[in-house]
Amino acid sequence: MSDCIFCKILAGDIPSTKVFEDDQIYVFKDLYPKADVHLLVIPKLHIARLDEAKTEHADLLAHMMLSLPTLAKSQGLDTGFRTIINTGPGGGQEVDHLHIHILGGSNLPGFK
Ligand code: AMP
Ligand code: ZN
Repeated sequence: MSDCIFCKILAGDIPSTKVFEDDQIYVFKDLYPKADVHLLVIPKLHIARLDEAKTEHADLLAHMMLSLPTLAKSQGLDTGFRTIINTGPGGGQEVDHLHIHILGGSNLPGFK
């Protein structure tokens, strides 16, 4: 998607602070962190929103989910972490490229 900022990050057209990548996912630091650790996990395939994911994406979604604990631990989040997926305007999604937020650290705000 030519106007998608996360696709531009994947293409190297917008700089990012990479934490990890493999053939399916790219992980980088959120530019405006909401906690001591704030990562974004994105698929290399452009899927705009979670509610646009299809059964054919099941393996990719499982891979993203199963990567989270290792990614969190790689950032020192040994006691746990928070994951958030915002979907659509009603969910506060600002970037229309599916992403999982990983948040953690001593600065983690309450969620109630
Ligand atoms: P969401 O509101 O779930 O769509 O989250 C989008 C996230 O992308 C926000 O936390 C932003 O701070 C983050 N963000 C926006 N632009 C960039 C960028 N160029 N590099 C890294 N993170 C970004
Ligand atoms: Zn995209």
